[in-house]
Amino acid sequence: MAVPKRKTSRTNRDKRRTHDRIKIVNIVECPRCHSKKLAHHVCQACGYYKNTEIISQEKDAKGKPVKKEAPKAEEKKASGKEKETQESKK
Ligand SMILES: [Zn+2]
Repeated sequence: MAVPKRKTSRTNRDKRRTHDRIKIVNIVECPRCHSKKLAHHVCQACGYYKNTEIISQEKDAKGKPVKKEAPKAEEKKASGKEKETQESKK
């Protein structure tokens, strides 16, 4: 069995533990439903982010919420693919 050559010093032990603390999460109030949510995240209560419905409250056959993709993200993906194809042709 591998055994440490020396005892870990207090300094090295404490340096290792500098990252062990719990980070404080930034909780804000949802402007739509006024429930508490994480900042810059989709509200889990109403499914809205920046006045756009991301997760619809409708549920599918399995009872899971139906996810909607943001239209802006789709446009970006489409334009990116077009550029890639044009570059590959050259
Ligand atoms: Zn909300």
